[in-house]
Amino acid sequence: MSTATSAPPMIKASGVNKFFGDLHVLKEIDFEVPAGQVVVVLGPSGSGKSTLCRAINRLEPINSGEIQVDGKPLPAEGKALAALRADVGMVFQQFNLFAHKTILDNVTLAPQKVRKVSAGDARKTAMELLERVGIANQAQKYPAQLSGGQQQRAAIARALAMRPKVMLFDEPTSALDPEMVQEVLDTMTSLADEGMTMLVVTHEMGFARRAAHRVVFMSDGEIVEDSTPDDFFTAPKSERAKDFLGKIL
Ligand code: ADP
Ligand code: MG
Repeated sequence: MSTATSAPPMIKASGVNKFFGDLHVLKEIDFEVPAGQVVVVLGPSGSGKSTLCRAINRLEPINSGEIQVDGKPLPAEGKALAALRADVGMVFQQFNLFAHKTILDNVTLAPQKVRKVSAGDARKTAMELLERVGIANQAQKYPAQLSGGQQQRAAIARALAMRPKVMLFDEPTSALDPEMVQEVLDTMTSLADEGMTMLVVTHEMGFARRAAHRVVFMSDGEIVEDSTPDDFFTAPKSERAKDFLGKIL
């Protein structure tokens, strides 16, 4: 594992608490993702997984504690926040592509606007990325003309076009028809193999077993277990993890 001792972790959360009104949804969250690691976050619905992802690129402000990305605390606003969002790619369950733009435009817009990449360079990079995710031949189409799996791969290409330092995936295959799940997981696996730092919320246990360096298990706003996939799946320590695995495996 690529965990050079001198480099700061790519993501570091310390004592993070988050409330929605009276609801305490993240409780003293401490965890780190070293550069190059793939961490899969598992846990029942409502345990805080999405809120944690959203907190990491500051789509949700936190109430206390600190989150750092690549050694720097999250900026609150302005250009620094835009730069953070460019460094932290995010892929959601719903693909969130711009419906009225072509796939190519979806991938080229933000790099030009945020990273100030020239139109020519943005296009070149976009076509390389679309090639890499296997949909270069769909570049001139609109999102609605693509299958769900193709749209999600376009969303991954769009995030990668910003040259992010880390990628967050929040249930990227949950909205897909079953026959399209594997093509998206394959894209994610190849990203992992290339050394991308990834935090992945998923219920795809095959992906967790094959691609994850670590599994973080959340329940009721807490990190209950943080272990290797092997240990988590074969010898979960907590009753909550055993109960969860009993329901999904
Ligand atoms: P998960 O992704 O693990 O299913 P979430 O992070 O989406 O969990 O939600 C954690 C808890 O916070 C749930 O109880 C959910 O209902 C609540 N919650 C999430 N977003 C909001 C919000 N914007 N306002 C109020 N409650 C929310
Ligand atoms: Mg969620």
